[in-house]
Amino acid sequence: MDKLTVRDFDPAGKRVFVRVDFNVPLADGKVVDDSRIRASIPTIAYLLDRGAIVILASHLGRPGGKVNDTYRLRPVGLRLSELLRRPVRVTGDALGAGTLDALARLKPGQAILLENLRFHAAEEANDPAFAKALASYADVYVNDAFGTAHRAHASTVGIAKLLPAYAGLLMEREIAALSQLLESPAKPFAAVIGGAKVSDKLRVLENLMSRVDTFVVGGGMANTFFVAMGYTVGKSLLERDRVEDAARILALAEEKGVRFLLPTDVVVAKEVTRGAEHKLVPASKIPNSWSVVDAGPASMAAFTEALQDARTVLWNGPLGVFEVPTFGDGTRVMARFLARRADEGVTVVVGGGDSVAAIEQLKLGSKMTHISTGGGASLEFLEGIELPGIAALMDRPA
Ligand code: ADP
Ligand code: MG
Repeated sequence: MDKLTVRDFDPAGKRVFVRVDFNVPLADGKVVDDSRIRASIPTIAYLLDRGAIVILASHLGRPGGKVNDTYRLRPVGLRLSELLRRPVRVTGDALGAGTLDALARLKPGQAILLENLRFHAAEEANDPAFAKALASYADVYVNDAFGTAHRAHASTVGIAKLLPAYAGLLMEREIAALSQLLESPAKPFAAVIGGAKVSDKLRVLENLMSRVDTFVVGGGMANTFFVAMGYTVGKSLLERDRVEDAARILALAEEKGVRFLLPTDVVVAKEVTRGAEHKLVPASKIPNSWSVVDAGPASMAAFTEALQDARTVLWNGPLGVFEVPTFGDGTRVMARFLARRADEGVTVVVGGGDSVAAIEQLKLGSKMTHISTGGGASLEFLEGIELPGIAALMDRPA
């Protein structure tokens, strides 16, 4: 990797500001899914074990620049303390005399968590004075918040200009896994793209066009391609102003000899809700006033067959409305198939919040080669956009 990491400096006795992504789901004052906290434990433990003073900072939710008790980091601090097996206090505010006081009392091997950065509008505005205040806490800056790397905020970009800035171990792993897909994937390389963020993912398809051997496109994404092929899609999710882009991508794939698979049979439903009337139809005969909700069995057979010889697979986006279990067959078949392939040594990388959620539901997360913790960030990375939070970190000298 061309960025310096925590392993490139001696943390002993240093004050290290670590930007983490602890933006986790909460319910009833408890952390519901702690995977993002777990993902940064290696970096935090690495620094503490080597005698650093660790100042952790994160955002949580969208408090919009104001203090909001719903988004206090206390539950996160509690879970973090359990996972680290040492107490981590949460400050009352990211700034202020009380915080300075608490920071001054920290000893090597101790950590503290600043209160939600987004209680200050200055964070998202990348306000230089706010960045300077945060930078004054530390000698060194480490960014382990891959999930926030696509945002140019005070704690991801502003502060990195004021302190020596290194990548954390999670950040390093994310960059390595995703850049391998773009730079040197073991071939054949296949990308399975589904979900609902059509415009963003069309850009991913374009960026991958010269790199992949096979595209499998499903989920809500497929409908825009169906219309480009002259099919009608009833009430299905569709981005009509992207139909021309879809047509262009199909033509490009043909020209470049990239195999491009779309569902040939689909499950359609009267309503996209649990218990709705549904049936299997050919993709070319989607009835008016019905919505496509899943890929059918013939499609799934063709998809898995096409992926049989792949040595690298990227999966981004569920193949159906998997939140409704009846419409989750395609997604489940793909998840189980890719888990098996990963077991057999194929590199399988999964990105996208909902795709990852679907895999975790099936408890297959640990089978995959890499599960990206960044939804929007991994998407932008795969679109070929340079993420500001990564760009701001120090380059490894040539
Ligand atoms: P990810 O978070 O994995 O990147 P997206 O956010 O793009 O994926 O899309 C996930 C959503 O796509 C899920 O909520 C799922 O219900 C929805 N989806 C999948 N297939 C369809 C479909 N055929 N019609 C409408 N929505 C769909
Ligand atoms: Mg999503």
